[in-house]
Amino acid sequence: MSYSLPLSFPVFDGNESIYIQQAISSGNLATNGAFISKFESKLSKKIRFHQAVALNSGTSALHLALVLLGVGQGDEVLCQSFTFCASANPVVYLGATPIFVDSEEDTWNISPELLEDAILSRIALGKKPKAIIVVHLFGMPAKMKEIMEISQKYTIPILEDAAEAVGSTLNGESCGTFGKIGVFSFNGNKIITSGGGGALISSDASVIERARYLSTQAREDLPYYQHLEIGYNYRMNNMAGAIGLAQLERLDGFIAKRRLINDRYRILFEDFPGITFQTELIDSRSNYWLTSILIDENQTGFSNDRLRILLFKSGIETRFLWKPLHLQPAYRGVPFYGGHISENLFLKGLCLPSSVSLTYDDQKIIAGVIEKELSKIS
Ligand SMILES: *Cc1c(COP(=O)(O)O)cnc(C)c1O
Repeated sequence: MSYSLPLSFPVFDGNESIYIQQAISSGNLATNGAFISKFESKLSKKIRFHQAVALNSGTSALHLALVLLGVGQGDEVLCQSFTFCASANPVVYLGATPIFVDSEEDTWNISPELLEDAILSRIALGKKPKAIIVVHLFGMPAKMKEIMEISQKYTIPILEDAAEAVGSTLNGESCGTFGKIGVFSFNGNKIITSGGGGALISSDASVIERARYLSTQAREDLPYYQHLEIGYNYRMNNMAGAIGLAQLERLDGFIAKRRLINDRYRILFEDFPGITFQTELIDSRSNYWLTSILIDENQTGFSNDRLRILLFKSGIETRFLWKPLHLQPAYRGVPFYGGHISENLFLKGLCLPSSVSLTYDDQKIIAGVIEKELSKIS
């Protein structure tokens, strides 16, 4: 169905049409077109000159990143449990096993304490994990200072899944630039979209060079097709590069609008008992891709699902938070370190409409639905 207030609706009122037309006129829509390198250099400026390789999805960027970190058959990779399946699936593609770790209650991202517990436990069991996958969920930066200390202490590299956090920062530095490798997604409903796409970013030139090579079928620079290794067809195409470049030009404005939307929700819900938000730590700045709330049924008298249905009836789209991966049937039996934090976030949470086009009046309608329901218990 189409909603009057969708969760996250893209806006294409910049240079998208112009650039698409230019890409078509150039006759090159393939993976070596001019918009791809323009997109990459614009992106790399946004992330303070870390280098970026444009790819065809965030998932392929994660897969390639794991290959570059040397993950293979029988290895273990630590991964935030509270995330979309694409954070962990590529671990399985490589014949390795994800080891899931629970969240902490402020940012809802991986708990540094539980991460260290998990590392010590896996080492004691005889296997040192090959990488740590940290996710900045809904755009909210994770506790990177603590996580990086642990990464250094045990010399286990960080793979930052910043798929949802394009433009989010911590101490002024972009999410995606803290780990050995970072990953972005430009899928349809992310904060900026290229129709479908992703990027792998790193400050290590050799990683970038190898990412380019492996993402283009590991083709040697020769007049004939020769391959010393097995590669992948993971490069972004020129059409996606054209759209992505136009969207990237608008990123700062989109973030400002999504942050304004988050502020207004906080003000509108201020006096609502039992409704809380993700915590933005000092020095961190979320892109607020999706504003999400927790509903404490003991105080509100209604559950997240009840609110979802009520809003649905008014044409307002909401979504549950990610169901933790350790609770997914597809990952049954996979080791998990933690308790019930991410499970409770899933049971209480709801993502609210956060589209750039959302107006203050739209938000007042949403607040009104909640207020009416709250009035039933007081
Ligand atoms: C969207 C997303 C991905 C995957 O990106 P695609 O471009 O859809 O393949 C990975 N991780 C997280 C956390 C995501 O939200």
